Amino acid sequence: MKPVAVNAASLERAAAAVREGNLVVMPTETVYGLAGDATNPAAVARIYAAKGRPKFNPLISHILDLNQAERHAHLHPVARSLAERFWPGALTLVAPRRADSDIAELACAGLPSVALRAPAHPVARALIGAAGVPLAAPSANRSGRLSPTHASHAAEDLGEEISVILDAGSCPLGLESTVVSVSADGVVTMLRPGAIARADIESVAGPVFDAGASNAPTSPGMMESHYAPRARLRLNATTAGAGESYLAFGAAGPPGALNLSPQRDLIEAAANLFAFLRQLDATGAKVIAVAPIPREGLGEAINDRLARAAAGR
Ligand code: AMP
Ligand code: MG
Repeated sequence: MKPVAVNAASLERAAAAVREGNLVVMPTETVYGLAGDATNPAAVARIYAAKGRPKFNPLISHILDLNQAERHAHLHPVARSLAERFWPGALTLVAPRRADSDIAELACAGLPSVALRAPAHPVARALIGAAGVPLAAPSANRSGRLSPTHASHAAEDLGEEISVILDAGSCPLGLESTVVSVSADGVVTMLRPGAIARADIESVAGPVFDAGASNAPTSPGMMESHYAPRARLRLNATTAGAGESYLAFGAAGPPGALNLSPQRDLIEAAANLFAFLRQLDATGAKVIAVAPIPREGLGEAINDRLARAAAGR
């Protein structure tokens, strides 16, 4: 995929691709991002597939301003002050996710928190505005490679699954955003150092703790783990036993079973994973038996997630 110059026509093509659930590469002031509609689980699954990540790490959703951020997260006054000072800009805020946010659970990797950033780059802002949805966008590189600071890097690294690569030259900062979490009770934790210095964050927010530091106050809002069903999970189950709910893949299961993907499409399966686990959990079944999922492509991340859900309770 060849990068294209940014103009009204290429921006509209990129926005249309995003609205259809496809992926585009967009310049931001930090690094180039691989962007898709954060509210569309299939688009989010395509992002993980394109990056070749072996796990569903949570993605940053890009919005225009504090107002939009408040639709997705519960922002403590400290989080609001940080946004007012540093947005638009290279600060990502992680905060408790609102139950009525339409950002896909897959974009948050099943965490009760959501990561939000209002980028400053005019092209990123134009795309977010034209698409009309928050854009989930990790760096536009294959997993394990360097973050791309030029459109050609993204083009070399990513395949034909990208609809449009918008080329706006090199990224002004060339460094990832600083990721800071602000819990419901206002505890500020550094999750990733980046383009905005810690001292600048502290000048607004007061002391910033390191993730996992022993002196960090426990913060009930942020330390919750990934979503795990109440039911026990039985993995690699080719049939459902008596009283078990069944999560199928490919071949249909017994009546009442849900099928992650009758077509054996791992992107569709990833898109359905959280919603279907919740639906089966809500039936009150003690055990959810899950069909074997192949370990190729996104199957690796799906299996990783299922193994954690099976162990983490
Ligand atoms: P990248 O996708 O490469 O830009 O990295 C995103 C960073 O934000 C990673 O360090 C993630 O761990 C962090 N992050 C994103 N979403 C969340 C979330 N919901 N909760 C905690 N950390 C997050
Ligand atoms: Mg990255």
